[in-house]
Amino acid sequence: MPAAPLEHLDVLIVGAGLSGIGAAHHLQERCPDRTYAILEGREDLGGTWDLFRYPGIRSDSDMHTLGYRFKPWTATKTITDGPSILDYIRETARENGIEPKIRFRHRVVAAEWRSEDSRWTVEVERGDTGETVRLTCGFLWSCGGYYNYDEGYTPEFPGAERFPGPVIHPQHWPEDLDYAGKRVVVIGSGATAVTLVPAMAERAEHVTMLQRSPTYIATLPAEDPLARLLRRVLPARGVYPIVRWKNVLLQTSFYQLSRRRPKVVKRFIRHAVERSLPPGYDVDKHFKPRYDPWDQRICLVPDGDLFRAIRGGRASVVTDSIATFTERGIELESGEELEADVIVTATGLNLLFLGGIRVAVDGEEVDIPRGMTYKGMMLSGVPNGAFTVGYTNASWTLKADLTSEYVCRLLNHMSAGGYSRCVPEVTDPTVTEEPLLDFTSGYVLRSLDQFPKQGSKEPWKLRQNYIFDIRTIRRGPIDDGSMRFSRGATRERPADPVAAA
Ligand SMILES: Cc1cc2nc3c(=O)[nH]c(=O)nc-3n(C[C@H](O)[C@H](O)[C@H](O)COP(=O)(O)OP(=O)(O)OC[C@H]3O[C@@H](n4cnc5c(N)ncnc54)[C@H](O)[C@@H]3O)c2cc1C
Repeated sequence: MPAAPLEHLDVLIVGAGLSGIGAAHHLQERCPDRTYAILEGREDLGGTWDLFRYPGIRSDSDMHTLGYRFKPWTATKTITDGPSILDYIRETARENGIEPKIRFRHRVVAAEWRSEDSRWTVEVERGDTGETVRLTCGFLWSCGGYYNYDEGYTPEFPGAERFPGPVIHPQHWPEDLDYAGKRVVVIGSGATAVTLVPAMAERAEHVTMLQRSPTYIATLPAEDPLARLLRRVLPARGVYPIVRWKNVLLQTSFYQLSRRRPKVVKRFIRHAVERSLPPGYDVDKHFKPRYDPWDQRICLVPDGDLFRAIRGGRASVVTDSIATFTERGIELESGEELEADVIVTATGLNLLFLGGIRVAVDGEEVDIPRGMTYKGMMLSGVPNGAFTVGYTNASWTLKADLTSEYVCRLLNHMSAGGYSRCVPEVTDPTVTEEPLLDFTSGYVLRSLDQFPKQGSKEPWKLRQNYIFDIRTIRRGPIDDGSMRFSRGATRERPADPVAAA
């Protein structure tokens, strides 16, 4: 008996986080005739905002730009807590009828493109039944985030086995951890550490942030002052785009100034930090990074909560290296010992491209690090596939929304032209390879060799600039000479005569 044909969908979205839900919204709106499903490895939606449960979990960029362009963020706090962001994603899914399209506990492990029938065959491990199932699709869209969900990054600490208390990575926060009245050491100086320290300091006896080297930390009001003002005279829907654009322009200018005049920005940040700390505080030692602003991400603290905890004596910063864990806590290279009941390793994430999916084209495995990213969302030589990855220097969703708009335009262009295949190809011999990211953060440098390259020129260059991308991604031509279209053999339904949006 011949095998039953595999289930086929026009588009498969991988991941039901902020990006996947946004992608589904755009697809439904702009390409209503396309069939689609979302395959989600976990048992719930929300991705990052469902996974991370540590005390104080919150955004470190403003919700007026981390929110979708199509769904105003109307709450008063613009730097907001994780559960509120999760509610916002859930609400988006519910309002748009996206939930029934999500297949939970479906982890995509492999995908192979076959040119002979112009479609992907996708291999999925089902967490509920334990089966491996296969489906096919015309377009594969990864919204699987950028890090490994299974395990965060923890360096090997000498003597780790000697410490008898709990050692916790924020990616796997135990629900029942009781740290009230305890001495806590948080290892790290990134966004997670600066969030955890003031939040844990509310209940702990004392929290020490132990960092090897300082990070730039800037204070932002948790409630946007312009939004507060405008809300008095305008409905929430009217306030949102204004505050969003104000934030885009401010952040873009601040980033450009940081790259062009780093000394000015250093002075500005330092002055603000000095004013937030008690007189005589050793700012140079604990808050003067060795790099320029935006060589690594700048950490934002809402209403200066970290500095408040330090001023109140409930938290402190120690800048030193770990010699060894001990039975009582952590011994430092300086010889000092930090006594602890609980140690939190806020040491970062393990980056992962495409949610770890193995990709092959016509029987040949795609060597991802050898590929070049097209507009930061497709891969050279890989047909009918896109991935959503946000900005490193601005809110993720700004780029995620643009990516969705572009993918929908691309799909509509293909429908209108009767194309079954599109593939970005580097045809200009003067385009040279560059690393995908120019960040010097440890977590980026550790994993950069697993990521594709970017090119030296458009459309292969990653600008990390929303205003520039509006021109090229939202408004630029789809048929730009680098994207090849073909009709090829296909079993897909005939193309609809939909004009490109
Ligand atoms: C603690 C923390 C705070 C952050 N704060 C901010 C912030 O303030 N501002 C900002 O711009 N960015 C922030 N980020 C980055 C953040 O991840 C993005 O803002 C955004 O949530 C990413 O959404 P996403 O849907 O692309 O990815 P994720 O939220 O990572 O969701 C990806 C989803 O895909 C699923 N998935 C992955 N691989 C597969 C697979 N192979 N098969 C099936 N399903 C799969 C995952 O289970 C997950 O549900 C933060 C990140 C972290 C970790």
